[in-house]
Amino acid sequence: DTRRHARESLLMYDGVQEQQMRERYQLLLNLRRALKYDQLSIALQPKIALATGHLAGFEALVRWQQADGSYIPPDQFIPVAESAGLISELDLSVLAKTLDASRQLRQQGIDLPIAFNTCSIDLLRPGYFDEMLTLIRTSGVPFNRLELEVTETQAMAEYEVISKQMRQLLDAGMGVSIDDFGTGYSSLAHITDLAASVLKIDRTFIARMETSPKAQHLVDMILRMSAFFGFQVVAEGIETESQRQYLASRGCQLGQGYLFARPMPPEKALAWALGHPRAPD
Ligand code: C2E
Ligand code: MG
Ligand code: MG
Repeated sequence: DTRRHARESLLMYDGVQEQQMRERYQLLLNLRRALKYDQLSIALQPKIALATGHLAGFEALVRWQQADGSYIPPDQFIPVAESAGLISELDLSVLAKTLDASRQLRQQGIDLPIAFNTCSIDLLRPGYFDEMLTLIRTSGVPFNRLELEVTETQAMAEYEVISKQMRQLLDAGMGVSIDDFGTGYSSLAHITDLAASVLKIDRTFIARMETSPKAQHLVDMILRMSAFFGFQVVAEGIETESQRQYLASRGCQLGQGYLFARPMPPEKALAWALGHPRAPD
């Protein structure tokens, strides 16, 4: 009967939930161990000047390789790290690796900015900001060769605190990027005095802009607004030549995506960079 059926599906639902909780907990234990034994690494994805094709910089992305060689995507473990209080440790360890990579690239003549990701939990945690600055200062990597990325949603949710820190970084010469731009709810008032130097157009809009007039209008609007307010723009997730052409024709300066290069281990990124044209100094 229907009642028994309902009860059984409820039990089944509980079973699925319990399974998910168990998996999440296992993931958390593994992540804690990976942090403790420094088993996370970074991959660097090139940023390209769309008008010339020159290499313009990199973004560092965390990578977690498993014993079997596979990778767990950041979208799966970053949220776990955030809710379990591990994200600040993770982000500082990624920053340390980013600074190492920056020094190595510079030694080989690749003197370009590298961006790293951060989140509002980090920036709201007392002491985090100073720890970050200390790490950078002791590394000797100049501030103007670094860029902090924070998502629009998180930056806007904690605008008062975060904008002060972003202003300080900008004043020190560091880049500040608003990641996944277009997916959050920036008020116009906040955009005009946003303490940021770069807007990164979320890749869902790039993917849809050639088939959805709405997505295309949004991309156009972000580009015009950025020109007006003096933001540099990076288009994320460029996968086709026609996307590149469209964005370049609309004045988008920079792009990132599989069309140019996937995120690569630092040594591979170095080799890639050495074989790729850079802007003359
Ligand atoms: P994000 O910062 O917006 O990074 C861009 C994501 O798009 C990366 O995914 C990158 O591999 C992917 N991507 C780049 N080009 C293309 C393309 O042409 N097509 C497609 N389909 N994807 C492309 P990834 O590495 O899986 O990272 C996902 C997200 O995880 C990042 O999004 C960022 O929000 C977060 N994340 C990554 N590393 C860190 C980290 O060290 N700290 C923190 N807090 N978050 C991180
Ligand atoms: Mg990013
Ligand atoms: Mg993004």
